[in-house]
Amino acid sequence: MSERKCAACGSADLEFGFLPELLHGGGVGMTTWVSGPPQRSAWTGLKVTHRPRYYVEAHGCRACGFLNLYVGLPINPPASGQPT
Ligand SMILES: [Zn+2]
Repeated sequence: MSERKCAACGSADLEFGFLPELLHGGGVGMTTWVSGPPQRSAWTGLKVTHRPRYYVEAHGCRACGFLNLYVGLPINPPASGQPT
């Protein structure tokens, strides 16, 4: 993993964290990043299926408090019949 530096002040004193997202049923997940512009869906608000999605890594700067957001690990799409 490459060393992260704060985009605001340049400090390398970052604390790894994440942005929690409440799930249906009371669970907690991680906020995600979807590649590409948003597309409306009549049923669910915005379409996110069949699009690349990634977890959002949030690195808080201990020096200035700036929250540095990074594209994190990919979320595996549902199996579509193709072997991996
Ligand atoms: Zn900073």
